Amino acid sequence: MPNMSLEKVPMPEQEPNVRNKNFKEVTLGYTEEMAVEEAQRCLNCKHKPCMQGCPVMVKIPEFIALVAEGKFEEAYKKIQETSSLPAVCGRVCPQENQCEKFCVRGIKGEPVAIGRLERFVADWYMENCKSVSEKPESNGKKVAVVGAGPSGLTCAGDLAKLGYKVTVFEAFHTPGGVLVYGIPEFRLPKDIVAAEVNKLKELGVEVMTNMVIGKVLSVEELLNEEGYDAVFIGTGAGLPSFMKIEGESLNGVYSANEFLTRINLMKAYLHDYDTPINRPKSVAVIGGGNVAMDAARSAKRLGAEKVYIVYRRSEAEMPARLEEVHHAKEEGIIFQLLHNPVAIHGDEEGHVTAIECVKMELGEPDESGRRSPIVVEGSNFNLDVDTVIMAIGNSPNPLICQTTEGLEDRRGCIVVDEHMKTTRDGIY
Ligand code: SF4
Repeated sequence: MPNMSLEKVPMPEQEPNVRNKNFKEVTLGYTEEMAVEEAQRCLNCKHKPCMQGCPVMVKIPEFIALVAEGKFEEAYKKIQETSSLPAVCGRVCPQENQCEKFCVRGIKGEPVAIGRLERFVADWYMENCKSVSEKPESNGKKVAVVGAGPSGLTCAGDLAKLGYKVTVFEAFHTPGGVLVYGIPEFRLPKDIVAAEVNKLKELGVEVMTNMVIGKVLSVEELLNEEGYDAVFIGTGAGLPSFMKIEGESLNGVYSANEFLTRINLMKAYLHDYDTPINRPKSVAVIGGGNVAMDAARSAKRLGAEKVYIVYRRSEAEMPARLEEVHHAKEEGIIFQLLHNPVAIHGDEEGHVTAIECVKMELGEPDESGRRSPIVVEGSNFNLDVDTVIMAIGNSPNPLICQTTEGLEDRRGCIVVDEHMKTTRDGIY
């Protein structure tokens, strides 16, 4: 008999007023009993609608059925058939817009907690199964993957399973890309990322760090001198955008990228690390996406008394995951919605003292379908802050395009066909 509860089995988490002072993971994961109970909510639908929403086509009903029977190792192997990073995806994929969005249990009540179950299975396997993955038989081909972020690691894992010899080239000293420099420890512990990378190494994937492709070696050299048959470019979007308003060069203005990299990758939150960072008292984070929530929640954990999210639209238009907005509110982040910054002010020594904002109201929908914000004339006011963090988006680093012949790009993004092939043979 399926479990017909309309609600997901709740996942334990740290109390808001405890967790907003530490960087440990907020959510604590299911126990075996909780996972079995939640798995029993799945109806094992014949047409598998949930799979339509999964970019890597995880065999969702099959793995959940195995969880319901308590066969956790088999469930892990089922997920692993199509996914290389289950412990990561179970934590940070936006399931509400992917698999869970299509779950029939979501029609009357909450969908099956597919993400939580994926996380449980991956964590259970790491904890209980120490077996080393077998290296697949070689097919004699070599592929270079540029960038050890989620895209590069997934590609490396899929190719390794097919018998390719894969080398991943990473610019930083640690593999993981945005999983290690961008997403904070309290959402995705770094030992989880390291464990997933180790699983790929067991499959034979080689990871070379401190290798900036386009500087140390070019894509041309990888293809023509280093003997790679193909190159996959997964360099992500690491170039932060700014608003181009007065005062953005003052001390205390960060891109969210820099602020989060200092905290996550360079461990600025630990007192025994000497990474410099403002330990702010009052912070304005500009933007309404997941990165803005991460920056705001990190600033709170660094000890800031007041942390504002300044966003020019209303909560309904915020691109951040509902769960992240909910957690941020619980932790005491103040939402200044329908507000937009117009200038940042500083003192004589060049330190931020305030951000000047205007109030906004919503007009007609724009090309994205969201209602456009319109300035309320004469509504300017100052918000006293000592730090401003810009979290308004990123674009790709142009280095690969600038150093590789024949790669067509459109507004900084490499042009690809439906098979992810670029305009150069052998480069994907
Ligand atoms: Fe289970 Fe929901 Fe998928 Fe149906 S749609 S198989 S209930 S997870």
